[in-house]
Amino acid sequence: MPPKKLKLATLLAQGGVVDEDPLMASSPPIYQTATFKQPDPVAMGPYDYTRSGNPTRTAVEKQLAALEARTFVFTSGMAALATVTHLLSAGDHILAGDDLYGGTSRLLSSVAPRLGLEVTNVDACNPEAVARALRPGKTKLVMLESPTNPRLQVCDIRALSALAHGAGALVCVDNSILTPLYQRPLDLGADISMTSATKFANGHSDLMAGVLAVRDPALAQRIYFLQNSEGAGLAPHDCWLLARGLKTMALRMDRQVANARRIAAWLERAPLVRALAYPGLASHPGRAVHEAQATGPGSILSFRTGSVAASQAICRATRLFKVTVSFGGVGSLISMPCFMSHASIPAEVRAARGLPDDLIRISAGIEDIEDLLEDLEQAFQVATNLVAAETPVPASSS
Ligand SMILES: *Cc1c(COP(=O)(O)O)cnc(C)c1O
Repeated sequence: MPPKKLKLATLLAQGGVVDEDPLMASSPPIYQTATFKQPDPVAMGPYDYTRSGNPTRTAVEKQLAALEARTFVFTSGMAALATVTHLLSAGDHILAGDDLYGGTSRLLSSVAPRLGLEVTNVDACNPEAVARALRPGKTKLVMLESPTNPRLQVCDIRALSALAHGAGALVCVDNSILTPLYQRPLDLGADISMTSATKFANGHSDLMAGVLAVRDPALAQRIYFLQNSEGAGLAPHDCWLLARGLKTMALRMDRQVANARRIAAWLERAPLVRALAYPGLASHPGRAVHEAQATGPGSILSFRTGSVAASQAICRATRLFKVTVSFGGVGSLISMPCFMSHASIPAEVRAARGLPDDLIRISAGIEDIEDLLEDLEQAFQVATNLVAAETPVPASSS
């Protein structure tokens, strides 16, 4: 009988060990060393220099490999994405979605052009628009997010990957919102699956890390070459922290998704809320596509109130939802992307992309849901009172 294929939660909980460790430590040793002694001047050991490879990094890269494919860990999600752009050469064209994480938007608009890369943005929810924007032979990379951050828009990864491959481009999907636990871009046709491990993979808001996963051995070799050449591989102590976080990732995300579903149901009935975006809702326009490519709605949601003052009042009044950028940690967070994570996108670009100033983004944590809903209840009451005080009482007709 072939060995039973273990489920991801099992592999994550039991992974992150250094296989060659003679003492068989349950937690991987932190090889806090830059160099490794060679057995002989003309013979190499398994490791020589930590920029090129380190046993603690190997342990966490293997643990992550259980999630999708060959993986490489970097000092942050942005370091991982910058590495992806370095696969290209001056004169190449990058086609990217138009609702992107702020840092990615900045990388593509302010850094990539200085390397001679031309970048255009397109509404990735619209495959015909993507097909028109591709330049066969010249477009070498298509960068997608689904669901997008912060508007939770969904694009069809299978359809867009087929289009991109037809034009000769690689497809990189930023999977930070769902992680490979809920969506596996490589199974959907993408060439590179990127995840900011700062978020769910680590889960405790105490580490920066980014992951690139690839299946094609030649592409893996090119990424390893860049990781070694540019020196953005994750340091040993951070690899250890990430290996520890990964052990509980499935458990944490389960709870976060369950809490997010309850929060979405609560927000759906809140009078102040409009344009609630969450892929788990029947009202989400991309729900069918999402369900065909992902196994869960995730734990990020966003909505508007129609008033910047009301949105700010909600964020100021919450006690358990901390006003913090980022997402995916065990603690629930609330933010206003236009003033925080996406403030680096110029106001007119934000407006053109439909990123309104009153938008609120919530990342559900693992707390008790009753406490979270009570906190929202009192915060919304504060905002409702404020809106009522500002709305002029209509003149009496009598
Ligand atoms: C956070 C984030 C990044 C960047 O990752 P860092 O680890 O913060 O560098 C990229 N894409 C998305 C969607 C993110 O949320």
